[in-house]
Amino acid sequence: MAVLRIRKLGDPVLREKARPVERFDGTLRRLVDDMLETMYAAPGVGLAAPQVGVSLRLFVYDDGEGNTGAVANPELSDLEDEETRDEGCLSIPGPFYPTVRSLRATLRGQDAEGRPLELRGEGLLARIFQHETDHTQGVLYIDRLPPEGRREVMRLLRDHEVKQQQERSPTP
Ligand code: ZN
Repeated sequence: MAVLRIRKLGDPVLREKARPVERFDGTLRRLVDDMLETMYAAPGVGLAAPQVGVSLRLFVYDDGEGNTGAVANPELSDLEDEETRDEGCLSIPGPFYPTVRSLRATLRGQDAEGRPLELRGEGLLARIFQHETDHTQGVLYIDRLPPEGRREVMRLLRDHEVKQQQERSPTP
């Protein structure tokens, strides 16, 4: 297994509509293993293939409450009620911002072996399903924020990058 480089905001792959997964072979299972390792190393609760530069409709997740796995060709349905919670993204490192999502969602797709799966999520799990399915469509959570929210996230992102650069530069 390997930790892959996570693509950051501005990388065009994050804005592509990803291709469906058609081949459920050893290459796909290796990608899933590497994506899980990358997600845990980050650390994060979800990671979509476009975030590691692979334009495939695929994501991995682990909500920290026992729900974990890989989903290919995700489709959301039965979205119910709304909840606002702080949301962030490994491709937009640093900021978190209150984001409206459906409280409950059903996710249909396939597992890493190509078997059909259907999952029902609530709260954080439903949010992960929506955030990661968005990634497979080239959509980021900042697209779902009002303009002032997006501006605030961009400001926090710049602050985070400046701070990281300062930490990297040698002190006399
Ligand atoms: Zn994300």
